[in-house]
Amino acid sequence: MNEVYFSKEIEGILEKTDFGKLGQKVAIKIHFGEDGCDTFIDPELVRKVYRKIESLGKEATLVECNVLYKGSRTNSTDHLATAKKHGFSDMKIAILDGELGDEYTEINGCKIGKGIDDFDSLVVFSHFKGHEATGFGGAIKNIGMGLGSRAGKLDMHSNVRPIVSKLCIGCGKCAEHCDFNAITMKDGLAILDSTKCIGCAMCIAVCPNGAMKIPWGGRTAEEVQKRIAEYTAAVLSSFPNSIFINVLRNITPLCDCMGMKQKAMMEDVGIVSGEDIVAVEKASLDLVNQKSKGEFDQMNEVDKENQLVVAEELKIGNREYQLIEVD
Ligand code: SF4
Ligand code: SF4
Repeated sequence: MNEVYFSKEIEGILEKTDFGKLGQKVAIKIHFGEDGCDTFIDPELVRKVYRKIESLGKEATLVECNVLYKGSRTNSTDHLATAKKHGFSDMKIAILDGELGDEYTEINGCKIGKGIDDFDSLVVFSHFKGHEATGFGGAIKNIGMGLGSRAGKLDMHSNVRPIVSKLCIGCGKCAEHCDFNAITMKDGLAILDSTKCIGCAMCIAVCPNGAMKIPWGGRTAEEVQKRIAEYTAAVLSSFPNSIFINVLRNITPLCDCMGMKQKAMMEDVGIVSGEDIVAVEKASLDLVNQKSKGEFDQMNEVDKENQLVVAEELKIGNREYQLIEVD
């Protein structure tokens, strides 16, 4: 049965986790938090894992990809500035999908940030919390959605095309940057031809007014969960010996992508780690549900266990685990 470690403090996890099995170039996938959020993962926890890996003579790098929507992490320049503002400035950081989020490597039909090819090992360090689209956000969400390039993220969310909203001011930047001639300007407004659009989402990244909108409702929660799990499977096919650490602190109802302060909805639980992503997620979900007396499970209407069921069906892990408490 999969061993999953649980500790109140990161030191217990550092003691039990075999970072020595990792290769020389270690990517640590984290989420730096959108500007305005203050419940993202504590940089001090990340620093301790980063230093531990470096103390073993390995090269550690924090990795992330740009986001789909207009925000403080839409391009690499802004993303790095946000990471530094949030306290990660003393660690090496790589944004894997290029300045505008359009550089990817294709693995089993999934568009993953291209820079992932530069690494031989992966540590997935995730803030466990609620998520409006997938029920909860942990390790599967962190690498499935998080390592998708912008076009990959659009694919997971909706697989449909952006739409031009009333915010369009007719600047023409989207038409200028669309490599597929899918946008023309007419009467001072952008017109998108969906027959030419391939869903690369470049227009979303360059629009200065947030006028290119994502039709978020294009997929059901179950479909999004499945597609995210497929992206996770694609990433893990390149990193079969990964380590997963979930931080069950500052557990908020919504994702760290929300550019606003959120209140923790329950007491802190601790930190969970292991080498089977599904077991680590299942243990995290169980611990959070126990501690909140089911409140976490009821917080949104998405079936949270389904994320684990589809991941198990894709054979990226197993829900059965043995929880080992560490002081
Ligand atoms: S970049 Fe945005 S504001 Fe400018 S024309 Fe395109 S949709 Fe309109
Ligand atoms: S998503 Fe890409 S292909 Fe489609 S209109 Fe926008 S820039 Fe052009």
